Amino acid sequence: KKITIAIDGFSSTGKSTLAKQLAATLGYVYVDTGAMYRAVAYFAMQHNLVSETHLDKAGLIAQLPNINLRFQFNPALGFAEMYLNNENIERQIRTIEVSRMVSKVAEISEVRAKLVEQQQEMGKDRGVVMDGRDIGTVVFPDAELKLFMTASSKTRAQRRFDELVEKGQHITYEDVLQNVEERDYIDTHRADSPLVKAEDAVEVDNSSLSKKEQFELVLNLVKA
Ligand code: C5P
Repeated sequence: KKITIAIDGFSSTGKSTLAKQLAATLGYVYVDTGAMYRAVAYFAMQHNLVSETHLDKAGLIAQLPNINLRFQFNPALGFAEMYLNNENIERQIRTIEVSRMVSKVAEISEVRAKLVEQQQEMGKDRGVVMDGRDIGTVVFPDAELKLFMTASSKTRAQRRFDELVEKGQHITYEDVLQNVEERDYIDTHRADSPLVKAEDAVEVDNSSLSKKEQFELVLNLVKA
């Protein structure tokens, strides 16, 4: 019987790696909800709703009906890529510029309401692994398995830094650490759906677990 797997936690705790592994092994659909918030942030940047210090929230809310998001599976990559108004923006949403903006966009209740509704629709038939910040608490409070991923901020920043360097981006470790800590702060302190462990979620601290060890641990939870 297909279940719903909700994976929440701080930035760069390996949520998406784990979610992709689980989805591939179980034949489930993987939904990266962070990509959706990133897409909205990217839209705001493209439409001049963002300056160095200011986000035009009212302007973005007014534009929400013009934001059409969908995922399209790319067999070559083995996961679904993010499309904004029929344009593939998978690469564009992974930059540090978008990472700096996204948590401010994710604070807006109207943005959350729109994305949560779409996420619930995508997962309504179960057989889905969804990762984010509010999946076990808001999107699917009745998920059969909820995981809450943690790791030290230094471990997480190092991982994200290595990833970005691999993608050819020019940044420093300190920039990445600062961004990770900033997003943690905003994500846990916002008024609407702050990041918090669901009461019935299993906490997985992977600071000292290899990807393989972590995967085996979680697969046993799925089977349990
Ligand atoms: O998962 P990822 O790091 O790509 O998410 C980017 C940002 O999107 C998070 O820092 C958070 O501010 C926001 N987010 C959210 N709720 C989700 C998923 C992501 O607020 N379900």
